[in-house]
Parts: sequence; structure tokens; C-alpha cells
Amino acid sequence: MKIDSEYMTEYIKKIMKTDSPAGDTGEAVSEVKKEFEKLGLKCTETNKGAVIATVKGKNDNVHKIISAHIDTLGLMVKEIKSNGRLKLNQLGGFSWPSVEGENVRIKTSEGKIYTGTVLPDMASVHIFGDIPRTAVRTEENMEVRLDENVSNADEVKKLGIEVGDFVSAETRTIVTENGYIKSRYLDDKAAVAIVMGICRYIKENSIIPAYTTHFYISNYEEVGHGVSVITDQTDEFIAIDIGTVGKGQNSTEFAVSIASRDAFGPYDFRFRKKLTDICQKNNIDYRVDMYNRYGSDASKVAQTGKDVNYALVGPGVDATHHYERTHIKSLENTAKLLIKYIEG
Ligand SMILES: [Zn+2]
Repeated sequence: MKIDSEYMTEYIKKIMKTDSPAGDTGEAVSEVKKEFEKLGLKCTETNKGAVIATVKGKNDNVHKIISAHIDTLGLMVKEIKSNGRLKLNQLGGFSWPSVEGENVRIKTSEGKIYTGTVLPDMASVHIFGDIPRTAVRTEENMEVRLDENVSNADEVKKLGIEVGDFVSAETRTIVTENGYIKSRYLDDKAAVAIVMGICRYIKENSIIPAYTTHFYISNYEEVGHGVSVITDQTDEFIAIDIGTVGKGQNSTEFAVSIASRDAFGPYDFRFRKKLTDICQKNNIDYRVDMYNRYGSDASKVAQTGKDVNYALVGPGVDATHHYERTHIKSLENTAKLLIKYIEG
């Protein structure tokens, strides 16, 4: 099976250019929809602004859903300070040091973009000595320094910047020659690229899925309520989301991670076994892993009480919710597993 890796990495680079913090994903969703349509898929949009692309299967009475989320972590203007700096709120969960020194874009309600940098309010060691070295970074002492000639709140407001504006960090997306992909927000744009890689493979190889398959690009996963529409015919739901690589974890940046549990409890063993069996039969490098501080669109679906079985697979990602890294092999292995699953 030859997956078009270059297409997937190019697509990651492309979607990283459009900010999509949870709550403001419209532009990115439109781009995703365009890509699906280019690949010949029919799309519908949910009231909440997610996109669902459908491929009719040999059996149309039973449906499968494969999801990935386009929303990312982000920030929001909480307060315009009297010195012209911006106080921030986090969207999703991450550590303040993970965005310290990062360049950001502030999007006003009229769509105007301003740039700035996230810094501690006492950043310079020349002025503050040990404080910048030792201070615990919190919402209280982190702020945005705008790249504008402003020194008070009124001047900032005149630019059109208001409380509630979305702030997005530079992704610094880099693909190395040996196949590493470094970027913020690989969670979960790497998975969106995997979905496109799968759809492209299906199209180019004229594959008709065993069952009607919906590719659900959700847009509120990072804040805990990604998926809201599930057809009555759906019996299985697979979320593609990151496997966490690091101390004590079994995931790697090269294999597809298959979740045995997350913060909400175990994933169904029979479904997991079905997926690991596919990997074994097809020589797909995989790791079973568990995530203690993590929920997915799949475990959220399970909590709705719907009679839909659920699983979680995805690329192994190092330093999740920080400056993340994975390898193209991980994307390929995830795509291979899901193509085999779709073929039935
Ligand atoms: Zn995620």
C-alpha cells in the first residue's frame, strides 16, 4: 500500500497557515471542505460549524464515522491593560511556558490581524534579575506585547482590539529531510491531513468502503464537545487523535497508537482487538497505549449514551500541547490501518 506522504505533509503545511483556535474555526473548516470536494466527496456542515464528508459504502445500512478535529489550542484577550498590554485566557489546556516568547496573531471582530509576542510581565533579566528566571508563569503575569505604538488601553481599543478577540500562536511548522514534522497544533491537524491522505488513496484506487463512511472534522474537541451529529445507522466511531510520546508512554513517533484507555475509562476491547488484528495482519507498526490526562471525541461520543462502539487511534506525538513533533511514518501507519478498516 503506497500512501502519498508528500501530499499529507504538504497539506499539514497548508492548514497550519489558517488559525483555527476552538471557537473560531470557520475559515479552516471552509478550506477543509474545499479539499474534500476536490477529492470528490460530498460534504455537509453541522449547525456548530463542523464538516462531515461521506463516502457511500457497499453496505449503506450500516455507517462508520472517522473523526479528526480541526480546532486547536488558542488564547483569548481577557483584558486590555492600562499599559497597552493584553491579558490572556487559555482555550484548551497547556502550560504558559509552552507559549512564552512565541509570536502571536490577534484577530479582531472585524477580521483585522495584529501581531505581538507572549511574554511574562517581568521578562528582562537586566531589569528584574532573578524574577524572570524563577517566577511561575500564570495567567496573571503573562501578557501580549503588541507590535503597535500603544502605551495605554484607549490606544489599543482604537485599533479595534477588544476583550474576546482570538489569539493564535505561530505554529513554526517544519518538515525535516528525514521525515520529522515539528509544529504546534499537530494535535490535531496531523490527523486532518491523515483523513485527506485516506480520502485521496480511496479515490485514486477506486475503493468502495465496505460500509458507508463519514469523515467528521469536528471543531470543538479541545474544549470537550467535538462531535454532535451521528447518523442512526452508525455502529462504530473512530477518533484520530494524537498518541502521547514521552516518559512512561508506549507510543512512538513512528507507529500508529491505539488507545486502551483515556481519562474517561477503557476503550472497548473487542473494537481495539479488531484494530490491532488489522495491524498484525498487514504488518502495520502499532503501539497500544493509555492516556491518563486526555479525552477524545470518541470517549465523548461514548458518554452521550448512544449505542455506538468507539475507538481512538493516531500518530505518536512528542511534547503534546507544546512545540510538538511526530514523524511521517506515524501518519502513514495511521492511514494504512484506517484504509484497511474501511475496506472491511
Ligand atoms: Zn486532539
